[in-house]
Amino acid sequence: MRLSRSLIPTLKETPSEAQIVSHRLMLRAGLVRQTASGIYAWLPAGWRVLQNIAQIVREEQDRIGAQEMLMPTIQSADLWRTSGRYDAYGPEMLRLKDRHERELLYGPTNEEMLTDIVRQTIKSYRELPQALYHIQWKFRDEVRPRFGVMRGREFLMKDAYSFDLDYAGAVLSYRKMMLSYMRTFQRLGVKAIPMEADSGPIGGNLSHEFIILAATGESQVWYDAAFEDMDFSGSNFAHTSEADLERFFTQMTTPYAATDEKHDSAAWEQVANKREGRGIEVGHIFYFGNKYSDPMGLKVAGPDGAQVAPHMGSYGIGVSRLVGALIEAFHDEAGIKWPDAVAPFKAAILNLKVGDIACDRISESLYAHFAGNALYDDREDRAGVKFNDADLMGHPWQIVVGPRGAAAGTVELKRRATGEKQELSVEAALARIG
Ligand code: ATP
Ligand code: MG
Repeated sequence: MRLSRSLIPTLKETPSEAQIVSHRLMLRAGLVRQTASGIYAWLPAGWRVLQNIAQIVREEQDRIGAQEMLMPTIQSADLWRTSGRYDAYGPEMLRLKDRHERELLYGPTNEEMLTDIVRQTIKSYRELPQALYHIQWKFRDEVRPRFGVMRGREFLMKDAYSFDLDYAGAVLSYRKMMLSYMRTFQRLGVKAIPMEADSGPIGGNLSHEFIILAATGESQVWYDAAFEDMDFSGSNFAHTSEADLERFFTQMTTPYAATDEKHDSAAWEQVANKREGRGIEVGHIFYFGNKYSDPMGLKVAGPDGAQVAPHMGSYGIGVSRLVGALIEAFHDEAGIKWPDAVAPFKAAILNLKVGDIACDRISESLYAHFAGNALYDDREDRAGVKFNDADLMGHPWQIVVGPRGAAAGTVELKRRATGEKQELSVEAALARIG
């Protein structure tokens, strides 16, 4: 993108409505604009980040065999009456009526809808297990929308749902999903810690929240240093055996980890390598057995011909919340420091003297080289403005094209994460960026 022709409205001043650093930086870097309380428009650069995050989430869901689909945002109230949640859900649900006075709602989640679809389509245990997901906007009329996209009313979620014949199968699905989450967060460049969460009224349930570490996070977390050097990049899901999954699950659930609500000082005393930090919840997974299949009449023919209710689980990742959470984890006083995997552009090209033949020529050829994955600052602005905006927007690499260097065929390459700068030939700079 050419910055002179882009809608990336950066701000010099700190917007007064933003209380936390990620919200301030998202507004200042021109990623989003609020259109109503807790509702945001994603501007071009913000949308690119959101898509990059969604794509990593998608790839890691696909890797464990979950199938992508897309369910609508608008759902019928009657569907939610079949599970009993229509009345139970309360004021967080946005309720609507169409022109025929039929009651609708903007979906806060999709358990009912997918249970109903599976009920209509799956008849035999031979068609199980199934895991399906979509990446879709949700609406929850939060009492206090705040912190920008971290607690919005409309937000993008990846929600997956698993259907298994029995408890043992459901546990496998749950563990695979947990492994997929650990890989997803690692690819996003953040350290995530799974924490046991309240499992609700039905005994035997399983639930974990995933907290990523960020100095400015909302909750205090206490955890065992064992989480710090775990590496999931090598795990091969397609062939992960039950035994491997069990070993992984034990590894994930044995070391101490808790937020304020569950912190147990006696257990904490026993931890040899204690770590404390701040964290943000970015994902939440549940096994809930027959909670929906029973009331909604989802049954399949089992191996002996008897009708059985599949065991279900649901698995959320806050895709739009992650944009804010990643900024909380990666920023400095000057702005955002995007991890390579999610940055809106791989590099920014800063032409310090637009109109200078050598500067223009080098900048244009660099811009062509990146085939759309660079932001070309071709504005007729002062160098200082360009440096500040590039630091604010957080591109992993900055390629500074100034008249003196350009005449000699060199550019200055800056790595945003470390601040390291190098004077290099154009070729060497490109080789360095890779
Ligand atoms: P919270 O306790 O933060 O309200 P939740 O338990 O209601 O979250 P889930 O229903 O488990 O959330 O949703 C899955 C994920 O969706 C959460 O882990 C979070 O990352 C994200 N999420 C939930 N509510 C919001 C929101 N209002 N704005 C942005 N993301 C959200
Ligand atoms: Mg909530």
